[in-house]
Amino acid sequence: MAELSPVLKQATPVVAARGEGVYIYDEDDRRYLDFTAGIGVTSTGHCHPRVVAAAQEQVATLIHGQYTTVMHRPLLRLTERLGEVLPEGVDRLFYVNSGSEAVEAALRLARQATGRQNAVVFQGSFHGRTMGAASLTTSGVKIRAGIGPLVPGVVVSPFPYAYRLGLSESDAVAHALRELDYLFTTVTSPQDTAAVFIEPVLGEGGYVPVPDAFLQGLRERADKHGFLLVADEVQTGFGRTGTFWGHEPSGIRPDIVITAKGLASGFPLSAIAAPAQIMEKAWPGSQGGTYGGNAVSCAAALATLDVIQEEGLVENSARMGERLRQGLEKVAGANEVIGDVRGRGLMLANEFTAPDGSPDAATALRAQQAASRNGLLLLTCGPAGNVVRMIPPLIVDGDQVDTAVSLWAASVEEAVSS
Ligand code: PMP
Repeated sequence: MAELSPVLKQATPVVAARGEGVYIYDEDDRRYLDFTAGIGVTSTGHCHPRVVAAAQEQVATLIHGQYTTVMHRPLLRLTERLGEVLPEGVDRLFYVNSGSEAVEAALRLARQATGRQNAVVFQGSFHGRTMGAASLTTSGVKIRAGIGPLVPGVVVSPFPYAYRLGLSESDAVAHALRELDYLFTTVTSPQDTAAVFIEPVLGEGGYVPVPDAFLQGLRERADKHGFLLVADEVQTGFGRTGTFWGHEPSGIRPDIVITAKGLASGFPLSAIAAPAQIMEKAWPGSQGGTYGGNAVSCAAALATLDVIQEEGLVENSARMGERLRQGLEKVAGANEVIGDVRGRGLMLANEFTAPDGSPDAATALRAQQAASRNGLLLLTCGPAGNVVRMIPPLIVDGDQVDTAVSLWAASVEEAVSS
C-alpha cells in the first residue's frame, strides 16, 4: 500500500473535509478555527462564495490557454487590476504558479536586467525550496543541508532582529546597515550585485517586521550602487500586514515585487511585477512556464481582489490585527515563556524564550499542539521553531479573534504546566 512520504511532516493531526470562512471541518465534522489560512493563502476565507462562483464559471468556459500560444481574458483583466494596486510604474507583469517559481524568475530577471550576478539576502530569509530560491533561503539549515551545490553568488547579511539582538529597533537597523556596507567592502562589490531580496516581514524566519528605516536604507543603497531592490511579498502581500503591501508603510518603491499566496485564495498563481525598463531585459523564452497564469487561477484572483476591496479586508486586517495583538500581549504578560509578541496586521508572532534567553521550541510546540486539540489551528516558525505564528483569514471578526485568544491562553497554560 502506498503511503505519504515522511517529508510531509504534518503540524496537526487534522484531516480536513471541508472549509468555510475561518473554519476547517475534519472528517468527524469537528470545527477548528483556522489561524493558519493554508500558510497565509486563503485570505478571503475558505471557499468564499464569490471566489467559488468565479472559478466554477471559468472552469466551464476555458481552463487552460497557455500564454505564449493564446492569450485569455482573465489574465489580461487581472493584469489591469493588479496595475491599480501595485506601486506606480511597477506595472509589467508575468505569471507563474508558486512563490518559489516567482522568486526564481525574479533572480533571473535581476541578473538579466543588470548583467550582474550576486544577490544579497538577510539572515533568516525564506524565499522557497526550488534550487535558486533555496539558495536565497537562510531560515533554517535543514532546508539547504545535503542538497548543494547551491546557486553561487548569494551573500547573506545580518537582519535587524531587534529582540534577538537585544537592541532597540533603531540600533538594530543601524547595526544591520553597517554590516551590509561592510559586506559591500569585503565580500561582494556593489558593482557585482544584481539585487537585494527582502521580505517586508521576515516570514518563515520568525515573523519579524522589517523596520521602515531599514527598507529606506536599502533603497538608498540600491539607488547609489545601481542594484535592484526586490520585495518578496509572497506572504506579506494582499492585505496580510494591514496595508495592501508589506513594504507600503516605509514609502519606498521596490524594483521588483513578487506576489503569490493571498493573490488567488488558494488557486496556484504567482506573479512578478517590475517597471518596463527592467522587464524588457527579460527576453521571450527565458521566463514563464506551461501553467503560469492559468485561466481558473486568474479568475479566482480577480474575485479575490473584488472581495478584498469591497469587503474592506485590508482595513479589517489592520483592525483585527490590533485586537489580536492586544489579546496576545495579555497572554504573554501572564506567561513569562512568551518573550515577544510582534508582527503587522494579521501576521503575528509569539516568540517562546527560556529563562536563559535561548529559544524554547519545546514549549512553543506543546502550545501549538494543545491549541489544535482545543480547536485552534496554528503553525510554528523561526529557525529554532520557537515562534508560534497567527495568520487567520483576513475576514476574521472580533468574536473569532477573542475566541482564538481564549483558546490560546488555555493552550499556553497547558503547555507550561505539562
Ligand atoms: N517567499 C516567501 C516570503 C514565502 O513565505 C514563501 C512560502 N512560505 C515562498 C517564497 C515560497 O512559496 P511557495 O511555497 O509557494 O513556493
